[in-house]
Amino acid sequence: MRILVVDDTKLIREMVSAIIRHQGYTPVTASGATEALAVLQDGNIDLILMDIEMPEMNGFELTRLIRKLLKHWVPIIFLTGSTEDSHLAEGIDAGGDDYLTKPVNATVLSAKIRAMARIAQMKADLDEVNIKLLQLTQLDPLTEAVNRRGLDESLERAWRIRQRENTELALIFLDIDHFKTYNDNYGHQQGDQCLKLFTGIVQNQLLRPADILARYGGEEFVALLPNTSLAGAEKIAADIISALQQANLPHAFSDTAEYITASLGISSSHLGAKDSHELLKQADKAVYLAKQQGRNRSVTYQPD
Ligand code: GH3
Ligand code: MG
Ligand code: MG
Ligand code: MG
Repeated sequence: MRILVVDDTKLIREMVSAIIRHQGYTPVTASGATEALAVLQDGNIDLILMDIEMPEMNGFELTRLIRKLLKHWVPIIFLTGSTEDSHLAEGIDAGGDDYLTKPVNATVLSAKIRAMARIAQMKADLDEVNIKLLQLTQLDPLTEAVNRRGLDESLERAWRIRQRENTELALIFLDIDHFKTYNDNYGHQQGDQCLKLFTGIVQNQLLRPADILARYGGEEFVALLPNTSLAGAEKIAADIISALQQANLPHAFSDTAEYITASLGISSSHLGAKDSHELLKQADKAVYLAKQQGRNRSVTYQPD
């Protein structure tokens, strides 16, 4: 556990650091706001012990600033010479969590450190659960691909990143061929099973961690390929088409082949889309052409 001691008095920093070290924790010191903010920027601080009276910026103001700037929560305990109740109240209102009077008593300090560490751990556990829950709300329960809501968010984010980093964002729209006749003949349950297998086959062709496969709806999917050129996306589309051939999921009622095939439309941010919606629309248009041209193929969007 790394504990930041913010105090303008060197002697106090040293005494408090000695207690912290003695308890088996690691002290980091700052003489005022500037140093404290620099340390916090580098991260990895689990608890802050904060003096109140400091010349550069007082502890209350600094606490308010930290609460505003820091994305995650770090417990803050004030150190003060004053024992006034109004002082305590002001500290808590500023965003502090507890209060210690100087001179600091080693037993009291170490007990408070343990209490704060416990709360910080619970907070971290909760944050983790919340992130997992959020991820679950963005997954399609049948295929475990990203769902429509997740796609909207991921697409927006990928578009912003590609603008910022000036990279190419490619997108493949996939639509399973003759899936209605598959359902009508094999039944809805096997249709569901087929969608799961299809997802796995496509997912296996997306090799980069940043690639995202989403279920757009029904038998339609979208592969988001950040930092990927049009040629790269065309290669992946060809790989998907041959992987489907290899997988050979029987579809005796398809007019296109004896197995499950798909039609793919490809676009990229280099083809004139002004936003992420247009990128998606371009790929969708290309799917339409792939269907027209006989299915089981990919078509790249051509700007007029
Ligand atoms: P095309 O080759 O032109 O794409 O024809 P298609 O039959 O694939 O397309 P269409 O849009 O006419 O039909 C899509 C079918 O997909 C309709 C429905 O039977 C099936 N479908 C959509 N969502 C699900 C699902 O969640 N589970 C199952 N089992 N089937 C689904
Ligand atoms: Mg002071
Ligand atoms: Mg469709
Ligand atoms: Mg279809």
